[in-house]
Amino acid sequence: MGEEFGFDKERFVNYNQDIFDCPICSCVARLPKDCSACGSVFCGPCVDSWLKKQQECINRCPKNSVIQGIQKSLKKIYDDLEIRCQFCTKPFKIAEIDKHEMNCQMPKCTNYDVCGNNLGTNEFEKQKVCDQACLLLSRIKQTKNKQDLYSCLKQYVKDKKPIIQISPYNFNIPAVQNQEYPVFKWDRQRMGTGITFSDGDTKIFLKEQAYMFRTALATYGFEKGIGYWEIEADEKTENELKIGVSTQREFNYNTAFCDFEFGWAYYGLAQLRHNSNATGPSFGRRFKKDGILGVCLNMNTGTLKFSLNGDLMGTAYTDEKLKHGPIYPAVSLLHCAGCKLITGKPLPTIFQI
Ligand SMILES: [Zn+2]
Ligand SMILES: [Zn+2]
Ligand SMILES: [Zn+2]
Ligand SMILES: [Zn+2]
Repeated sequence: MGEEFGFDKERFVNYNQDIFDCPICSCVARLPKDCSACGSVFCGPCVDSWLKKQQECINRCPKNSVIQGIQKSLKKIYDDLEIRCQFCTKPFKIAEIDKHEMNCQMPKCTNYDVCGNNLGTNEFEKQKVCDQACLLLSRIKQTKNKQDLYSCLKQYVKDKKPIIQISPYNFNIPAVQNQEYPVFKWDRQRMGTGITFSDGDTKIFLKEQAYMFRTALATYGFEKGIGYWEIEADEKTENELKIGVSTQREFNYNTAFCDFEFGWAYYGLAQLRHNSNATGPSFGRRFKKDGILGVCLNMNTGTLKFSLNGDLMGTAYTDEKLKHGPIYPAVSLLHCAGCKLITGKPLPTIFQI
């Protein structure tokens, strides 16, 4: 007699026959196999250890009978069986029960009912929570009155939030490297002919005989929320830039991205360009070879705003298409022009509603 490899019949929610009963361990077969001659179903492990000793089916079937994994049609019925977890008693498909039970025994986050996470091997493990959000949630739960809650939240904000920058016209604020403030650069794979890169691909420059716009795209596409980045003027620039966003990543980079309906730009002549290489409305002030242009893409509202040296120039565009990512920061350079891309900075207060 083998060990009890099978499942206890009482744990099943929808099994009240005996077709999958293993005659060796008298339980419902685990990893089932069957005999080609008599059709008996066994636990794989039960019958394997049986065959090592006996070399024939338990029913003494002919030597040419084969014992192997159950046929597709039978497997389909087997896979539909539902069995309760020994620990939480929730029902699961039989194929998932082993994995679930292993997981079910793992230590849980205090807020498991909300987050559904086990405890990880991280800094939050000692606090019996899975992450920062659950730690905060636990503290809030333990807090009895509003005053305590306020102090708790204030402490949290102080501990975790980067200091909000007052003006974007400030060169000394270090980049915050996290998802909230993504750090990216210009994409060497996606740029017009003749554009050169420097400073870890944050700087681009174009100097050529021809007078045609050539585009550079950023390596990063925004998917949701609010994106903010800055374009610092290059003092050697002779021709104004077109600065904005593109919803397309693949096109002819030896054009301006805003010539097309997928591009939205502020043009340094204090104009806008969208879906046109020739005309657009007036907007803001001029920008060419000094200062910092701030670009704020709000995908919640579908708006694109610009600032110059920390002053809001206003909302350049409101468009449904600016709500759907990925949306790539883009710049088009003409003849002799360049700029530096500055990323990883928090959203300046002028762009905060
Ligand atoms: Zn068995
Ligand atoms: Zn048999
Ligand atoms: Zn369970
Ligand atoms: Zn949690």
